[in-house]
Amino acid sequence: MPTSPVKNLVTGGAGFVGSHLVDRLMKSGEEVICLDNFFTGSKENIEDWIGHPSFKLIHHDVTEPIKLDVNRIWHLACPASPIHYQFNPIKTAKTSFLGTYNMLGLARRVGARILFASTSEVYGNPEIHPQPEKYNGNVNPIGIRSCYNEGKRAAESLCFDYMRMHGIEIRIARIFNTYGPRMLLNDGRLISNLLVQSIYGKDLTIYGNGTQTRSFCFIDDLIDGLTLFMNYPNTGPMNLGNPEELSILEITKLIRNTSIKQVNLKFLKELEDDPLRRKPSICFARKELNWEPKIMLKEGLEITRDYFEKKLIFKKTK
Ligand code: NAD
Ligand code: UDP
Repeated sequence: MPTSPVKNLVTGGAGFVGSHLVDRLMKSGEEVICLDNFFTGSKENIEDWIGHPSFKLIHHDVTEPIKLDVNRIWHLACPASPIHYQFNPIKTAKTSFLGTYNMLGLARRVGARILFASTSEVYGNPEIHPQPEKYNGNVNPIGIRSCYNEGKRAAESLCFDYMRMHGIEIRIARIFNTYGPRMLLNDGRLISNLLVQSIYGKDLTIYGNGTQTRSFCFIDDLIDGLTLFMNYPNTGPMNLGNPEELSILEITKLIRNTSIKQVNLKFLKELEDDPLRRKPSICFARKELNWEPKIMLKEGLEITRDYFEKKLIFKKTK
């Protein structure tokens, strides 16, 4: 007997993570509706699929309700880079809370499973290291990052209440810093900033003294984790990230040492509320999904540098 196709909705599907997820789902032969308001996403990221009979693109803002016939919702819509989510913090908070409310309402109406893209930012400036899922975090509720991290915390809480009250099937993925092709050139995040600066031969910018740490996961590994998690029979929350922890200074030196152009380091004022340390505990994902990242930073940076180089050459010749 033929089984009916999986009908996916990917909110934020024209963005960095969303477009890689769309690629993966389309290549698996599933149906995909990509929904985006194009604040930080672009049509270019999903242009390969435009016109494909299993693909549909909808220009829509998740802060407005929508009715669609789907059975899997991947709710990613939300700017992720600090400069973008701080551009209009009230809109970011609305996108997190109201956007998730609308997607949960849709999931309830059509009986879809919903995976919510939460973040390591829910742990704030962590006092526990590495961060396990049971850690409740140390978040400043009134700082300039709160629109994003408190927005995501409120959205997680809403997901759990929809599950408890209405039996909605939820999956909460706490995504740690992810990088790779299709990050915006002017994204403002560490990896894109440093790679673009090194390609142009400009100074590499370090906010503060560079002793703060992060653990960067390559996009393909994250997509593996997300797709496994959607099919996992429990809610999470589940950390998805690469536990390879490095200081910002170490990452900057790695990029400087592999740069073709000679570049210097430039220290700038530290950012407000910048978390000092971040590293995921991925014991849960390892045990339950048999998942762990395969691509280490050095290799992922080369792939990402190639992407930025091609983008910049294309921009110059246009
Ligand atoms: P991104 O900015 O590249 O993508 C976000 C997408 O959502 C964009 O296409 C944007 O246009 C769209 N969008 C934003 N607001 C919207 C709205 N109101 N309605 C409809 N579409 C809207 O960011 P990303 O890095 O791809 O992140 C995707 C998701 O993953 C986000 O929810 C983010 O919080 C989460 N996340 C990402 C990272 C990371 O390191 N990339 C880490 C943790 C969590
Ligand atoms: N950072 C930096 N120089 C840059 C961009 C970022 O030193 O040009 C630092 C930033 O202060 C933070 C870390 O790199 O400590 C990661 O920043 P990013 O914006 O990539 O991610 P997030 O802060 O959201 O984890």
